[in-house]
Amino acid sequence: MGKYWNEEIECMAHEDMKKLQSERLVKQVKHVWDNVPYYKKLMEEKGVTPDDIHGIEDLHKLPFLSKADLREAYPYGLLAKPLSECVRIHSTSGTTGKRVVAFYTQHDIDLWENCCARAIVAAGGTKDDVCHVAYGYGLFTGGAGLNGGSHKVGCLTLPMSSGNTERQIQFMQDLGSTILCCTPSYAAYIGETVKEMGIKPEELTLKAGIFGAEPWTEEMRHEIEKLLGIKAYDIYGLTETSGPGVAFECEAQSGMHINEDNFIAEIIDPDTGEVLPEGSKGELVFTSITKEAFPLLRYRTRDICILTREKCSCGRTLVKMCKPMGRSDDMLIIKGVNVFPSQIESVLLKISKASPNYQIVVDRVNNSDTFEIRVELNDDMFSDTVKSIEDLEKKISNDIHNILGIKAKIRLVEPKSIPRSEGKAVRVIDKRKLV
Ligand code: ADP
Ligand code: ZN
Repeated sequence: MGKYWNEEIECMAHEDMKKLQSERLVKQVKHVWDNVPYYKKLMEEKGVTPDDIHGIEDLHKLPFLSKADLREAYPYGLLAKPLSECVRIHSTSGTTGKRVVAFYTQHDIDLWENCCARAIVAAGGTKDDVCHVAYGYGLFTGGAGLNGGSHKVGCLTLPMSSGNTERQIQFMQDLGSTILCCTPSYAAYIGETVKEMGIKPEELTLKAGIFGAEPWTEEMRHEIEKLLGIKAYDIYGLTETSGPGVAFECEAQSGMHINEDNFIAEIIDPDTGEVLPEGSKGELVFTSITKEAFPLLRYRTRDICILTREKCSCGRTLVKMCKPMGRSDDMLIIKGVNVFPSQIESVLLKISKASPNYQIVVDRVNNSDTFEIRVELNDDMFSDTVKSIEDLEKKISNDIHNILGIKAKIRLVEPKSIPRSEGKAVRVIDKRKLV
């Protein structure tokens, strides 16, 4: 099997890759034009037809697609294949009311799993490995993606899902897990639990970890590597583009190679939409050129990033993206879940007794996220009984849990105690230090 999962593609000369991308783009544009009325309309509004697209040099002529389009078209509006040919859906974690649902044909699942297989092989995985998948299984893409990739490589796959940490560690010891796949915060938590249980890293058989789905720092990488005695690799993706495996890290551990045979990456100015030259910092935009059921063209990820095409010591020629450096919208990722401040506001506005003055405080303690919402009481409420204040706290807490799927610590604070700002309200205090 060697060093690469698909050497021909992973080490393809850039000129050849451009040719391949161009051919696939032309085909894909025709496919969405013919099959997705929503897309056809967007293209018509921009005055572009498939005849205008001859290759990647024409990509900039196509309209952008955003999360708002996905919500508007929910659930079937962007589907480009008959439902009878789809075999699976996945969905993003916690978005207001309408989730984003992505559809897959068997062909799409194969492409995706091959992307994940590339990531596993780049982390040193072979068929002799025991791949311990502790990403969540279910609608979330993490578990299914790495599970599928692991099967393709031929690893013995442990479909653990997340949670029950002591049992995870027990399995790791009993079955000799060699590769751990999960979110970086869960990896750190497993590492700390290993330490608390008095197990030394060298007593485990782990050699590598593939961690993603949320931002993490170099310091966190070093800590996880030390705690578990492994090499930790980053992996990137989003539900809209299949899931994890859009980009993966190699042995150089300095940026993630984008699977350019499946995705064309662009960097744009988030304010003007102008395409920026390679090496610039801006918003990452992906066009999926191989997916058939849910092929998004020029999808704005909102992730801020830089692309580089310097020669990589691993031999791959696929362009590299840096760790996402932030977002161009106000989305937070807390405990791996996408959280928009507007979701919290909508909960508070429905509860008449809570004033919509609130602040979200996020921090990272012992490598896991803490999530607190400070809600200001109004004057009437402040003089209420302790019991009714407790009830209010409970109600907010339940409503937040229902909408986001994660728990927040609710702190009710005195009227007028949240600082007023003269400009934009400071709704979010994110104390986690990122790149
Ligand atoms: P997933 O199911 O992979 O969590 P979502 O669609 O819920 O996908 O979230 C995708 C977002 O998660 C990305 O746009 C990005 O902001 C973030 N993300 C995914 N992987 C990484 C990573 N390795 N580093 C930083 N952020 C990441
Ligand atoms: Zn490399």
